[in-house]
Amino acid sequence: MQLFDELKTLGHKHVKANKAAQQKVPTGLWISCPKCHQSFYHKDLGRYQACPSCQYGFRITARERLEWLVDDFTELDDQLQTKDPLDFPGYQAKLAKAQAKTKLNDSVLTGLAKIGQTSFALGIMDPQFIMGSLGTITGEKITRLFEEATRKNLAVVLFTASGGARMQEGIFSLMQMAKVSQAVKNHANAGLFYLTVLTDPTTGGVTASFAMQGDIILAEPHALVGFAGKRVIEQTIHQRVPEDLQAAETVLKEGFVDAIVPRAKQKETIAFLLATNQKGGLTNG
Ligand SMILES: [Zn+2]
Repeated sequence: MQLFDELKTLGHKHVKANKAAQQKVPTGLWISCPKCHQSFYHKDLGRYQACPSCQYGFRITARERLEWLVDDFTELDDQLQTKDPLDFPGYQAKLAKAQAKTKLNDSVLTGLAKIGQTSFALGIMDPQFIMGSLGTITGEKITRLFEEATRKNLAVVLFTASGGARMQEGIFSLMQMAKVSQAVKNHANAGLFYLTVLTDPTTGGVTASFAMQGDIILAEPHALVGFAGKRVIEQTIHQRVPEDLQAAETVLKEGFVDAIVPRAKQKETIAFLLATNQKGGLTNG
């Protein structure tokens, strides 16, 4: 039936299929890259789930990313649960569904990791958990990750993916931006290194706070990086904006990120940056 579903997308449902492809790795036999529109046999995406033509990284779960990213990982704070502070209609069911899908308590996976012999604190936001939105527990887990890293004298590597603040938690969600930023600052004051990797999509309150506070900021090829969505910008300034306005490549050209690194190169790049920027690393003799 999966093959049949995919074949159907070649007809009138094609546009819808492309939109779905941006949200998760498709399960059919043939898939179309939402960025370069080339078609591939699904196995061609390989272990990194990246387009063989343009290197676009499909939206994968945090646990899928973890499989090829590090050599060792100990998870932190996996028991924290949101209290649904606004008693928002339907929110509990939405949370339960996202938790089942991603095997996470909220939209970020945090823990202590190793690449080779180098230890660091690692956070990976999950675009499959209510669009990677920033909830109270997301913010709390990232804050605790920075606090733990500061105590243990470790660098932090954070993969961001977010549609922005989580509307079901209102102001409690927005205040996470300030709370995490304070923890980032305390970590920086201790002379410790913070690396961010922006993945598709990194937008809203996450871009407006900790995603852009890294000492070095990397991005995945063709990742959407921005604050407000394109349609909102156009409605506000009453002008059309270029199609690639919020592509990682444009953001790089404008100087907001330092480099674009495809998934196949991320592990070695992170290992190099940790070795050269960590306290007591190569830069300290
Ligand atoms: Zn592509």
